[in-house]
Amino acid sequence: MNPPLQIKNLTIQYGDRLILENVSFTLQKGEFAYLIGRTGSGKTSLLRTIYGDLKPTKGEVWVGETEVTSLSPQKLPFLRRKLGIVFQDFQLLPYRTVYENVAFTLEVTGWKDRKAIRERVMEVLFQVGLSARKDAYPHELSGGEQQRTCIARALVGAPILLLADEPTGNLDPEVGREIMMLLHQIARWGTAVLVATHHHPYLEIFPAPAYQCSNQRLVPCA
Ligand code: ATP
Ligand code: MG
Repeated sequence: MNPPLQIKNLTIQYGDRLILENVSFTLQKGEFAYLIGRTGSGKTSLLRTIYGDLKPTKGEVWVGETEVTSLSPQKLPFLRRKLGIVFQDFQLLPYRTVYENVAFTLEVTGWKDRKAIRERVMEVLFQVGLSARKDAYPHELSGGEQQRTCIARALVGAPILLLADEPTGNLDPEVGREIMMLLHQIARWGTAVLVATHHHPYLEIFPAPAYQCSNQRLVPCA
């Protein structure tokens, strides 16, 4: 069985502009890693390549047994069953409740059985600490609760890999810490987690391996 994430000799360019060159990287089951590097160094571009939103110039991205860079657009939804994504700006559906936002992800990936959907959604809302807010609409939630909803939505399909791009970027420091703690907990539950962040204090509060995008390379930090 392949690891949740394996990047092999990846080169990313926008036109002639080289962003990352010949990058290789592996994440094992239940492993947590930070992706750091100054603004414009290529963190978001690397994550986009992993979730199939950006074609690299060269190299391979394996998410479990799926090679992402050669997937046709029609096959991308299948990748999304194995991979969850969390962004800085929460991107929730405004006219659906917390419960409905999370259930929607299952419905679009082919779940039909209402009872099974209900059980799975309630389980994941419990895991992220949102059971009591399941009937609230996004505008009724705090920033931290909105981000927990996004994390629930990313987790509900039981992905092998969770990607997060600046997940604490729009949150107060205290709330940001709680979200980062939850992401570490998710790794302990067995999902591999890769978090791009500017916010270096987390590396000391919640230590984990960090990889820096720098000079078109991905460098492990000591
Ligand atoms: P930040 O910390 O600010 O989020 P980042 O490390 O995520 O930065 P990227 O967003 O990956 O950096 O951008 C890397 C470089 O690629 C930047 O110089 C950016 O301007 C450029 N870039 C990003 N997206 C595109 C695009 N769609 N077309 C052309 N250039 C782009
Ligand atoms: Mg970015």
